[in-house]
Amino acid sequence: MSAGSIATVIDCLEFARGGGVLQRSFGLDEMPRLASHLAAAGGCLSVRLEGWRDGEGKSWLRVDIVGEPVLCCQRCLGAVKFPLNIQSRLQLIGPGEDWPDGELQDDDADAIRADKAMDVLALIEDEVLLALPIAPRHERCHAPLANTVEHESSPFAALGALKKH
Ligand SMILES: [Zn+2]
Repeated sequence: MSAGSIATVIDCLEFARGGGVLQRSFGLDEMPRLASHLAAAGGCLSVRLEGWRDGEGKSWLRVDIVGEPVLCCQRCLGAVKFPLNIQSRLQLIGPGEDWPDGELQDDDADAIRADKAMDVLALIEDEVLLALPIAPRHERCHAPLANTVEHESSPFAALGALKKH
């Protein structure tokens, strides 16, 4: 980590107990695990983190991530913008707390272990990696592969046309 970057670390349960809100942007170049998915290194993600405790004493974290990383189209290998808009709810499981029963668990919430020193950047990177498509591509991709097939067939078609004369 370079001297200039500040690690964003939070004590999850403390953050939730205090109703913490954290809002900042993260550069995509700060996320090494994302690098192999990106066609362009620039850009950043706007991140908002909010913590709270519900009436039952459960601790929660809400993560909002907005951005537009540039991925590599798997058909033409060109750049393709991928608009991200992630909203996740995470239940924080503290020490000694029961892990939520899979069946009782909220469909749209995940449970994570409450870390006293959670690296926010790593959490954001995890969420983004989960949201990225396995094989990103342009919505209407003019893949060079399809064109090659056309070109290959055309000389034969021309030949066929010639033979008729
Ligand atoms: Zn493409």
